[in-house]
Amino acid sequence: MKSESSKRVVAVIGAGPVGLAAAAHLLERGLQPLVFEAGATIAGSLQDVRHVKLFSPWRYNMDAAALRLLSTTPWRAPALDDLPTAGEVIDHYLAPLAEHPSLSGAILLRHRVESLSRDGFDKVKTQGRDDAPFVIRAETPGGPREFRAWAVIDATGTWARPNPLGANGLPAIGERESAAHIAYGMPDVLGAMRKRYAGKRVLVAGAGHSAAGGLLALARLAEEEKGTRIAWTIRGHNFARIFGGGENDGLSARGALGQRLKRLSESGQLEVHADFRTSALRPSNGAITVEGLGPDGSTRTIEGIDEIIVATGGRPDLSIASELRLKLDAWLESTEALAPLIDPNVHSCGTVRPHGHRELAHPEVRYYAVGSKSYGRAPNFLLATGYEQVRSVAAALAGDFAAADLVQLELPQTGVCSTQFDEASSGCCSSGEPAAAEVELPVLASSSCCGGPPKAREDSCCAVDEVAKDAGKAGCATIGGGGCGTRKRESESA
Ligand SMILES: Cc1cc2nc3c(=O)[nH]c(=O)nc-3n(C[C@H](O)[C@H](O)[C@H](O)COP(=O)(O)OP(=O)(O)OC[C@H]3O[C@@H](n4cnc5c(N)ncnc54)[C@H](O)[C@@H]3O)c2cc1C
Repeated sequence: MKSESSKRVVAVIGAGPVGLAAAAHLLERGLQPLVFEAGATIAGSLQDVRHVKLFSPWRYNMDAAALRLLSTTPWRAPALDDLPTAGEVIDHYLAPLAEHPSLSGAILLRHRVESLSRDGFDKVKTQGRDDAPFVIRAETPGGPREFRAWAVIDATGTWARPNPLGANGLPAIGERESAAHIAYGMPDVLGAMRKRYAGKRVLVAGAGHSAAGGLLALARLAEEEKGTRIAWTIRGHNFARIFGGGENDGLSARGALGQRLKRLSESGQLEVHADFRTSALRPSNGAITVEGLGPDGSTRTIEGIDEIIVATGGRPDLSIASELRLKLDAWLESTEALAPLIDPNVHSCGTVRPHGHRELAHPEVRYYAVGSKSYGRAPNFLLATGYEQVRSVAAALAGDFAAADLVQLELPQTGVCSTQFDEASSGCCSSGEPAAAEVELPVLASSSCCGGPPKAREDSCCAVDEVAKDAGKAGCATIGGGGCGTRKRESESA
């Protein structure tokens, strides 16, 4: 099998942490990776946030096959419990990995993949399709070029496609016209971008970790630079979800981030606008007036904003695979099988059941989207998830389905329950305790409200749900009416 598969080229799109891990797994499997990277360096997305300290320690940020490859060089592993910055992840792990002699020649920098297809087959043509190689059309320094590959692993992330400011998913009216005063993601407000934000009235939009990090950095800037003021808009009002699980969070730095934000919001330093659904930006007296709608449809305004940081997550670029046969979840844009495990509307545990090639498969045989792109629009992707995905996918491509199906992943949980996510609907767990009080939790559950991922049941989102269903109960959906089982039923009946 090894000699047969060694002829097979697998295109890996994106030399981010998950793309490079995929390449390491493919090499181990005797497959030939060919990595396309849009940027002038590897890890184009992480380069943008070099200054950001990750909340997961080194042990979760490195892939096992990559470590095996690095162990053949004089490379020395970092202290596993230390928290690196994104820049350190690049310098101390990804760059040495990409420079490994068996990988360096397989990485094509400045090769932006524009589109994918199958050789001689448009999307409609079926017969013989599965045997046809993929065509990878890339924009290169020498102009557009086409490459052929037996399989494709798409690890292009979501960083290049930030969500807009408009609460309805469209750019707010006037957002494009105000582009000079808007940054997306996590600009380095304490470093390279300091001058831009010092002494200004800055609005941050978003309720995730990037927004929290941006607000905390601005608060520090405000201490150092007089006149810096911070406003914060969120679409909802459930601060329990935003502030996170604190000490219950399996990643202590992630828990601490939320708690620091809580303290900041209580300090009065921060002007908080909850239930604010941004709709428009209007220039006014040299500043920007931000218009939004409240939950009752009333118009609300925030005046005198100089700069806006939009930290509302990202979305996958579906255009490159539009000539392929993909089956995507209707709202998350992940695969349909993965969606129920990660849907932020109902997913309560902050973790995800182990999953691999089966959950990531599309009708287009041998095309997989992995890494943060695999989550589509769902938040909270963790590197460890992506590393297990590519281990499974590489094994499946090599024909080792026993290994491919043996997906194993134990993620640190957020320590936040679904009832805390959404006060209007209750999920399967209540604050810190399983709602199904009669259900005996597995050992894993002792520190978490949902008991961690289910052990066996495909139709369960978490251990509490699983134990309830095993006991003949309906699980989360009936316990709270809005738990993790609900989505599945909705999508099945759709
Ligand atoms: C600020 C921040 C902090 C985070 N902290 C953590 C953390 O502490 N722990 C954790 O586990 N996760 C964390 N994450 C989440 C996640 O792990 C990272 O986003 C991670 O970078 C995802 O890796 P990836 O390889 O899937 O995608 P990316 O890192 O986004 O890599 C995608 C790569 O593809 C390239 N690319 C894009 N389009 C094309 C194209 N068309 N052709 C060729 N190349 C292309 C990009 O240039 C990039 O190099 C964090 C995310 C952010 C934004």
